[in-house]
Amino acid sequence: MNIAIIGAGLTGLTAGLRLSQSGHKVTLYEKENYLGGLSSSVNIGSEAIDRFYHHIFVSDSEFLALIDELNINNLINWYEPKNAIYINDNLYPFTTPLDLLLFKPLSLISRIRMGIMVLCSRFINDYSTFESITAKEWIIKRSGKDVWEKVWEPLIKSKFDFDSNSISGTWIWNKLKLRGTSRGKSLNKEMLGYIDGAFKSVIDKIGEQIIKNGGNILLNKEVTKISKAEKDLFEVLTQDSKASYDKVLFTSSPTILSSVLQDSAGTDLLNLEAGKNPPSAIESPAHQPKDEENHLAHYKKSLNSIAYKANICLILELSESLSPYYWITVAQEGLPFVLIVEHTNLVGLRGYDSHIVYLSRYLDVSNPLYSAPDQCVIKKFIKGLKKVFPDIKDGIIKNITLSRAPFAQPVITLDYGKKMPAIKTPIEGLYLASMPQIYPEDRGLNYAVRLGEKAANEILENL
Ligand SMILES: Cc1cc2nc3c(=O)[nH]c(=O)nc-3n(C[C@H](O)[C@H](O)[C@H](O)COP(=O)(O)OP(=O)(O)OC[C@H]3O[C@@H](n4cnc5c(N)ncnc54)[C@H](O)[C@@H]3O)c2cc1C
Repeated sequence: MNIAIIGAGLTGLTAGLRLSQSGHKVTLYEKENYLGGLSSSVNIGSEAIDRFYHHIFVSDSEFLALIDELNINNLINWYEPKNAIYINDNLYPFTTPLDLLLFKPLSLISRIRMGIMVLCSRFINDYSTFESITAKEWIIKRSGKDVWEKVWEPLIKSKFDFDSNSISGTWIWNKLKLRGTSRGKSLNKEMLGYIDGAFKSVIDKIGEQIIKNGGNILLNKEVTKISKAEKDLFEVLTQDSKASYDKVLFTSSPTILSSVLQDSAGTDLLNLEAGKNPPSAIESPAHQPKDEENHLAHYKKSLNSIAYKANICLILELSESLSPYYWITVAQEGLPFVLIVEHTNLVGLRGYDSHIVYLSRYLDVSNPLYSAPDQCVIKKFIKGLKKVFPDIKDGIIKNITLSRAPFAQPVITLDYGKKMPAIKTPIEGLYLASMPQIYPEDRGLNYAVRLGEKAANEILENL
């Protein structure tokens, strides 16, 4: 079978690996001139580094199994992070249960309630009752209004912007569960994994294997249209190419899928979906049966109803370290970012020649900051950084790299399970494997591997 995969992030690459291992001819289309999507990298000093900060968790079994299979498990190292929270103009250590007990912004009873909430989340598996309540209700019920208002409300607001009031209890439960399981058996010790050469090492290795298996990887090839060439064949179009495939797997956002499904004739995919022959020359789109039109329109509407938040991420190369912490969560409104991640406090200086700090902000793409000029964003972020670290001098900043991702975080709203799109689309032969299908867990490298494998399996089962 000839299979097109749209998007060469970790999901598309994993699916490509599995399908090419099963003897199918895969062609990956990637709109950027590099592989990896959100897990791609940039170069700093003599080292590659993730464009957006990444680490893995000890519970990331699918990802770990894949790097075992690729024979690069020797590249993974495990580190014990030091975490903190910035709140009320102060930095509080927040790594161990003892840190929580000593956390002054909350009353003692609130600290204990929050500790119990975090601890218990790890042992909860049935999330069905959390789906229909908001994260706010979920937290207040378990640890009180004080904990919600002081710690979680600012965090959820800065992650989900104006959608923060509709975030599901499932999302927050799962975040706490994941952090709990990353502590392994010792509750006191969280371990995070990072890979020599950045996650690019995994991405490149998968790419190599796909090519060895006879696949193609096309960079700088943005797919602009998916339509039907003749019965049972798809036509995949870019600005300068057109090719036919038996199956198509789409791995970017559902909104983009909805836009590329717009066929110029407006009918081809409808016929494919209904398992009919293409319309005759005299048959205009207006003559298509109403229920078919409704069917595709309904599917596109459901794809467009999946919202995302974008991310702006700065990589600062500094001549001095900012703090002893790897991960600083900013739980204070008014700052332009929600995270300060000092990567070199986790993995050491390596060949970077600098201390590396990421500043991360989630926001809606409609927020003017998302499309503001780089210098304007940088100025705002550095001003915020100086509020957290008033002693920082401009001279310590050697270089800044700014990256933006329009589709960075799916918005998991109430009863999300009911609206989550399936991998097998209503259009026969077209499959979707995209971050919003990771549920109840939240997006992550491990789940990208799992989703890519699941999509490949579905395609193979339906041959
Ligand atoms: C700020 C940030 C921090 C993160 N930190 C972590 C972490 O610490 N640990 C962790 O496990 N996960 C983390 N993640 C999540 C992780 O990066 C993602 O879950 C994973 O990379 C998703 O891979 P993907 O292939 O599903 O999607 P993507 O990486 O988005 O891949 C989709 C690809 O499709 C391409 N594309 C889009 N449209 C087209 C088109 N029309 N034609 C061709 N190509 C197209 C895109 O360019 C992209 O390469 C983080 C994500 C962000 C944003």
